[in-house]
Amino acid sequence: MSIETTGERSAPRPPYPVITDETAPFWDSAHARALQLPHCRGCGEFFFPPAEFCRFCWSEEISWDQVAGTGKIFSFVTFQRMYNRAFEELLPYHVIVVELDEGPRFMSRLTGLAEGEIPTVDAAVEVVYEDLDETTTLPLFRLQGAAR
Ligand SMILES: [Zn+2]
Repeated sequence: MSIETTGERSAPRPPYPVITDETAPFWDSAHARALQLPHCRGCGEFFFPPAEFCRFCWSEEISWDQVAGTGKIFSFVTFQRMYNRAFEELLPYHVIVVELDEGPRFMSRLTGLAEGEIPTVDAAVEVVYEDLDETTTLPLFRLQGAAR
């Protein structure tokens, strides 16, 4: 239970990603606006999350290489209620599992929808980048062809 010392509602800081040595290349590439994922030199597959060996062929020859940043919505959930005040202004917002054209899936947020517009599974999306500060950038997604 938190105790408010003033009646004012300050804008809360959104939760930041926990960046480890293992995931730093992902976040660094997002900040550079050229999203990179682990890429197996043995079989050519991209995969995520990062690992010391390829989940497809167990090769340890892994490099980080740029992906196209396009894919489709594999799954989504629309948040209508506020669970974190940092996201209050975004309501309703859409958390998606994106499936990149290269295969890997991860969670992100769908942005840029018109008011009342609902995401659909398999809709084509493309990455956009949202800076949280000077060093941390979130890879978000919007519908392909969406004006912004
Ligand atoms: Zn492999």
